Amino acid sequence: VQPPPSVLHAFRAAVRSAPGRTALAYFDGRLSYAETDALSDGIAAHLAARGFARGDRAAVMLQNTPHFVLAVLGVWKAGGVVVPVNPMYKSGEMRHILDDAEVTAVICADRTWDAFLRALAAGTPSVRIALTAQEAGLQTRDDERVLRGQLPQAPSTGSGAGGTRSGPREGADDLLAVARTAGRIRAVPPDPELTADDVALISYTSGTSGTPKGATNTHGNITYIAERQRTGLGLPEGATYFALAPLFHITGLVSELAAALVNAGTLALAYRFEAGVVLDAFLEHRPAYTVGPATAYMALMAHPDASRDHFASFVAMYSGGAPLPPALVETFRADFGPYLHNGYGLTECTAPCASVPPGREAPVDKVSGALAVGVPGPDTVIRIIDENGADLPFGEPGEIAVRGPQVVPGYWRRPEATAAALPDGELRTGDIGFMDTDGWLYVVDRKKDMINASGFKVWPREVEDVLYTHPAVREAAVVGVPDPYRGESVKAYVSLRPGASAEPAELSAFCKERLAAYKYPRTVVILAELPKTTSGKILRRELRHRA
Ligand code: ATP
Repeated sequence: VQPPPSVLHAFRAAVRSAPGRTALAYFDGRLSYAETDALSDGIAAHLAARGFARGDRAAVMLQNTPHFVLAVLGVWKAGGVVVPVNPMYKSGEMRHILDDAEVTAVICADRTWDAFLRALAAGTPSVRIALTAQEAGLQTRDDERVLRGQLPQAPSTGSGAGGTRSGPREGADDLLAVARTAGRIRAVPPDPELTADDVALISYTSGTSGTPKGATNTHGNITYIAERQRTGLGLPEGATYFALAPLFHITGLVSELAAALVNAGTLALAYRFEAGVVLDAFLEHRPAYTVGPATAYMALMAHPDASRDHFASFVAMYSGGAPLPPALVETFRADFGPYLHNGYGLTECTAPCASVPPGREAPVDKVSGALAVGVPGPDTVIRIIDENGADLPFGEPGEIAVRGPQVVPGYWRRPEATAAALPDGELRTGDIGFMDTDGWLYVVDRKKDMINASGFKVWPREVEDVLYTHPAVREAAVVGVPDPYRGESVKAYVSLRPGASAEPAELSAFCKERLAAYKYPRTVVILAELPKTTSGKILRRELRHRA
């Protein structure tokens, strides 16, 4: 099946064929496809009226709310490029992205407004248009107000209006009122006639390993993934997808938001990840599909209310974007029922490039104990290569290189970084992995996270996987620390399951029994919580600096 050129094409078809079907479900609020269409038309019309033109960049800084989806559709309808920005970013982090992408429009929540203004005060000359969710006509209060033509001079403007509500239900009560305002928006933007080669997103990498750079995901990259999910997962048309990953991260935006719309399905949202709220939402919306980082599943499992019933509606649950410890898959299945499918991807691959097909279980490598991340998707070629780009034999670890319809054409305005990461359009992932003779891909670790202990290579993930088999361990991260004798030595940070106890020496000994002498962590530090990115990835980098 040929994917549609853009998500908008599929979305418009769904509006025609099922206008009354629920597109967005947010707590007890619902927006139909027709309402979602009218509201996003309103945003597009607002932007176009302010001179926002084809190819212009609009930053969307929102949590997982219906507004996020409306803003994305609105920007695409205006022919623009969406730049998702983590709404929890502080002004400096925000400014880097606004500047780098030369953003001309910003759509944010009231609570982000002050940080945005501070970023602006420090100089982001390109921004001309700014609107909060209300100003886009997305909330009742102030829905008569249209876009600002001029940016406000003082931070007081904008931050007050309607911004008093707090907590994850923010906006839920307004949804019906929102739907009513849709009827008042008359300007329908002209069809931008997007093609598969137009850039849809500039997505900044998570920053797990350094300063974020913007990958340019095209509409064709996105619809390839969404269409592949639609056909590959076999979910019925109209199925409910739950946005467990943040929508400002590629996994949420593509594998949840775009996938739901391309399947004429319902996207259920819950503001942001909070284990108790998410468990309630599972019961309320009965989703068939979700994907999130392994740490989200760890938090759900640790929640005292979690039961098998919460997960009973799922046809497929995926963990992606970060390593999935084999022990987690086993415990999850034993205690809650579903088999957690692994998926391997990166921003430059517009989400997954290899995943475990539904109904199959990933093998565990006998030598390293690693869990396979999946098999390459259709039309995707994954090679394991040496430093010169030559193919390595099966089973031998090397850099993972990916070629396929999901691979971005490059980084935004960074020809050198593009040439280095994408020679001839083949992505050098910076991850080390190997392939077995059955075609399963295994990720050993990130190239730059390798620990060199007395000249021996230690891959943190292997040590972490062993720590996860200890019953008291909830989260684990392993880093290399300077060592006068060995060059580097292995140090582990762990957090414990609620109510469990373990001594550092005991955890170190536990690993020593199961790993070669140069691999086991000589030091173990127990923390209440490990540092993570807002997309839920454990930040080894921060721990390394702490070490
Ligand atoms: P930055 O590039 O700024 O460091 P990041 O690499 O975290 O950020 P992403 O594109 O979100 O940005 O993450 C992709 C990386 O996550 C992959 O390169 C890989 O190291 C890791 N990863 C993703 N999925 C898996 C998986 N299933 N198993 C192991 N590692 C994974």
